[in-house]
Amino acid sequence: MSSLKVDIEVSRDGELDLLKRGLPLVTAWISLFFITAGCNSSTRLGAPGAGDPSQEGRGSDRSAQSSRPKVLTTFTILADMARNVAGDRLQVESITKPGAEIHGYEFTPSDIERAAGADLILENGLGLELWARRFTEAAGDVPSVTLTDGIEPLLIGEDAYAGRPNPHAWMSPKAAQHYVDRLVEAFSTLDPEGAQQYEANAEGYKGRLQELDAELRKSLKVLPAGQRLLVTCEGAFSYLARDYDLEEAYLWPVNAESQITPRRMGRLIERVKRDQVPAVFCETTVSDKAQREVARASGSRFGGSFYVDSLSDRNGPAATLLDLQRHNVKLIRAGLGSSPDPKP
Ligand SMILES: [Zn+2]
Repeated sequence: MSSLKVDIEVSRDGELDLLKRGLPLVTAWISLFFITAGCNSSTRLGAPGAGDPSQEGRGSDRSAQSSRPKVLTTFTILADMARNVAGDRLQVESITKPGAEIHGYEFTPSDIERAAGADLILENGLGLELWARRFTEAAGDVPSVTLTDGIEPLLIGEDAYAGRPNPHAWMSPKAAQHYVDRLVEAFSTLDPEGAQQYEANAEGYKGRLQELDAELRKSLKVLPAGQRLLVTCEGAFSYLARDYDLEEAYLWPVNAESQITPRRMGRLIERVKRDQVPAVFCETTVSDKAQREVARASGSRFGGSFYVDSLSDRNGPAATLLDLQRHNVKLIRAGLGSSPDPKP
C-alpha cells in the first residue's frame, strides 16, 4: 500500500469565526486582520476521500502493472487524462491524492521513492505546481513532460499575480485536447510500439471532449444575461468562462496566493451585492468558510463546491475529468439559473 501522505490541516477557525461574528461591521474591523486562507499549508483541507488510494491502479491487476512502464502525474486530473490515452499499456499513478491541494503540495520521501522507479513524470506547467522542479530534481533521471507546452495561456488580470499565466487550462475541453496530443507524443516516445494504440485511444477521448464541449455550451447558454457572473474562491475558471461566455470574480487569483485580504473580500462582497449574484461558490481543495461569509454578507447564497484542481475519489461525483465538468456545470446551473427575485 502506498504510504503517500496527504496533509489535512485545520483551517484557522478562530479567525474565521471572528470574521463571522464581526460582520456586518465588516468595514470597521476588517482592516485589522489579514486572514490566511486558500491552500497554503495552514488551510489545507481534504475533500471527502482525501488520502483514498482507490484511484491508483484502478481496474487492473497489480502484478500485471509491474511489467508496464510507470508514469506519474502531479495530480489526479492529469492521471485520468493519461489513462484515457495509455489504455492498459502503461501504469499511471497520480503523486497527489484526490482532495489534495496541488499548487503548494509538500511532497514526502515516499513520493520521491516512488518517482525514482518511474519512467516518466507528467506535469501541468504554467506555474501550477510550485513544487515540480524540486520534485523532479530530487527524483533523479526521470524524464518529465509539461502538458501545457504550446498552449496560449490566459493571463491573470489582478493582484500580485497580474500578467502571469493562469495554469488551469484543463478546465477548457478545447484546451484539454491539446493535453491529449502532448500525451500521445510523450507516450509514443516512451513506448514506440504502442504509438498506434495511443493515437487511436486519443482520437476516441478527444471525441468525448468535443461532445462535452458542445454539451457545456448548450447547458450554460440558458443562463440569463444578468446572471452570468461566476464567483469562486480561486480564479480557476478563466478558461471555462472564456469558452462559454461567463464573467468571473474570485477571492484570490491562484491557490498559491493564499491571503484573503480585507480589501479583496470587501470588494467581492460589494460586487456580489451590486450585481445581485444569486449564488457564490468555492472549490473542494480549499476551505469554503470565507466564501460562505461573502454569501452571508452580500445577501447571496452559497451554491456549493466545484472540483477543479482534483478529482473526487472514484465513488464521488467527479471521478473523471468529464464527470468533474458535468458536476460543476450542474452546480452553476442550479445556482445561477434561478431568478434572484423569484415571482410567486
Ligand atoms: Zn488551482
